Amino acid sequence: MSPAPTTLKRCLKCSTEKPLESFARQAKASDGRHSYCRDCDRIRRRNDRAASPHLEWEATYRQRAHAYGNAAVVFTFTREELVDRYGDECAWCGGPFEELDHNVPVASGGPHTLENCRPSCGPCNRDNSHPAKVAKRRREAVITAVRARQSAHEAEARLALVLT
Ligand SMILES: [Zn+2]
Ligand SMILES: [Zn+2]
Repeated sequence: MSPAPTTLKRCLKCSTEKPLESFARQAKASDGRHSYCRDCDRIRRRNDRAASPHLEWEATYRQRAHAYGNAAVVFTFTREELVDRYGDECAWCGGPFEELDHNVPVASGGPHTLENCRPSCGPCNRDNSHPAKVAKRRREAVITAVRARQSAHEAEARLALVLT
């Protein structure tokens, strides 16, 4: 007896004929399978992720926020917008931009917004006591405080002008 013939299907992407099992199931398709083979599908998903990493950032953030029992607050921004604002290096130590860091940590209810996110290297992202990060955060806090004081002074000076 000859073995049952293997059903072959041609992948729309790589044009290779492969056994039906090489295609992921898809209920809506007429033959119940994807038109791209699993290998091509994997590459496509990887390319999609590389082209829009912010979608993965948001998905990861939502999962983590829910895991901490916090409401997920998401204001979409792209990698480009992040780099425009903070540069293409780790915002804390100037190392490589490897991960997205939440300045107010996700565990503390920090939102997923351009204001609260920074490009970060892996070590700075994972370690909030990283010396470079602590120093930079302290500097930022001082600058913010000085700016707030300056604008208060300005407001007073302007008010004094108006009143005289
Ligand atoms: Zn293929
Ligand atoms: Zn760093």
